[in-house]
Amino acid sequence: MYKHEFNRTKIISTIGPASHDYEILKEMVYCGMDVCRLNFSHGTHEDHLFALRNIRKLNEEINSNICILQDLQGPKLRVGDMGEGIELITDQLIKVTNTPIVSNSEIVHVIYEALVEEVKPGECILLDDGNLELKVIEKIDDHTLLAKIVNGGLLKSNKGFNLPQSKLSVPSLTEKDITDLAFGIEHGVEWIGLSFVRSAKDIIELKKRIKDGGSSARVVAKIEKPEAVENIEAIVEVADAIMVARGDLGVEIAQQKVPLIQKDIVDICIKAAKPVIIATQMMESMIENPRPTRAEVNDVANAVLDGADAVMLSAETSIGKYPDKVVTIMSKIIDDVEQSRGVYYKGERPNKESSTFLSDEICFTAVRMSDHIDAKCIIGMTTSGYSAMKISSYRPRAHIFIFTHNHSLLNALNLVWGVRGFYYDRYESTDKTFADVLEILKLNKVVNHGDLILHTASMPIDKKSRANTIKISVVQ
Ligand code: PGA
Ligand code: MN
Repeated sequence: MYKHEFNRTKIISTIGPASHDYEILKEMVYCGMDVCRLNFSHGTHEDHLFALRNIRKLNEEINSNICILQDLQGPKLRVGDMGEGIELITDQLIKVTNTPIVSNSEIVHVIYEALVEEVKPGECILLDDGNLELKVIEKIDDHTLLAKIVNGGLLKSNKGFNLPQSKLSVPSLTEKDITDLAFGIEHGVEWIGLSFVRSAKDIIELKKRIKDGGSSARVVAKIEKPEAVENIEAIVEVADAIMVARGDLGVEIAQQKVPLIQKDIVDICIKAAKPVIIATQMMESMIENPRPTRAEVNDVANAVLDGADAVMLSAETSIGKYPDKVVTIMSKIIDDVEQSRGVYYKGERPNKESSTFLSDEICFTAVRMSDHIDAKCIIGMTTSGYSAMKISSYRPRAHIFIFTHNHSLLNALNLVWGVRGFYYDRYESTDKTFADVLEILKLNKVVNHGDLILHTASMPIDKKSRANTIKISVVQ
């Protein structure tokens, strides 16, 4: 293991030209990065493969468990070719068409088949992350709308646009997503994010495709549409993790609503023991500058206090000037906040009606006990990851050291709050396993003589069923 004092809140970095080389990736891991996000809205498969191979090689070389989050673009809408850019002037009228034409200051091309059917007069079209705004006045023909420019500015080629007030029929997985997904499955990515999720159905459909592809990748539902916020409970239930994707969310709904939605989603996820990621513009100014703004430092600190499992960097690490420095600074902010007590002991008492009640109670009690006895760590064995996520969701101050024989799970757990995974594949007897894993922790210098530790396990151990045992020991 490469680092002895760990952040509980994990750091996800988007990998791009500024960070895909082996040496810089290694540096970022040493600075505190836990997860690499490959953003399939940008780059070619070749680019992503280059990053992916470097990450896998790094895991081998320094014995890290960095996992890969493949982020599928989903039904993101984009404008066409705007040449050098087109200046839209506030209060003027403009035509918007889905006919592929050369755009000019009177008519702009947007790529969306159902434009005229689904975007009604009075509804707005937001361009370039909401920087430019149009209001639809009327339909001109089957391919063209007339709109008023409410907020003008320079519109550049290929920028995204949002239709927050329109009910859209676009499929949740586009042709591009399906091709990208095949790439992710082929290369064994641990997590797959889906953009612009609207309902639980979108996730169920993606999960079926992943399963049919023979992969055990887990799914992150990106919450960035008003429909997703409305359906959040159902989405959390079927997804494996959630991302509060504040970039598009702040365009799709009033931006002042985002802070409380973030807090609500984090609460719901912690109760459901599903990891939750806070994303976008966390350290935005560090794309260009060596220091973040005070507001950004506060934003990261607040996400940690809310109880997020992970905080994410986007352009800061993919194309920014300081990809390793931004990870270091983020790590320092997390570290400082985690010294306070505000971060710990969340979640709710297990539900008696639940089919997993007894093993949940073991996890819950282990976390309570770890507090009472001031334990150094809680040790768990897992084959599915379930108990690791459960223990984590109660947010113990003690470290969570999880042992599993499943390499892909070992990496996947690197996204989860507080969890550090170790490989272990012998399940002879409980006594032997307890002794073995303790030896591994000692070898890794993560426990010391005199530390109190808590084991959770399932006895008999070779049955690999859910946790039913807690044992306290003192490290000799
Ligand atoms: P994106 O998602 O970077 O893929 O758009 C994140 C967000 O919208 O916040
Ligand atoms: Mn987005």
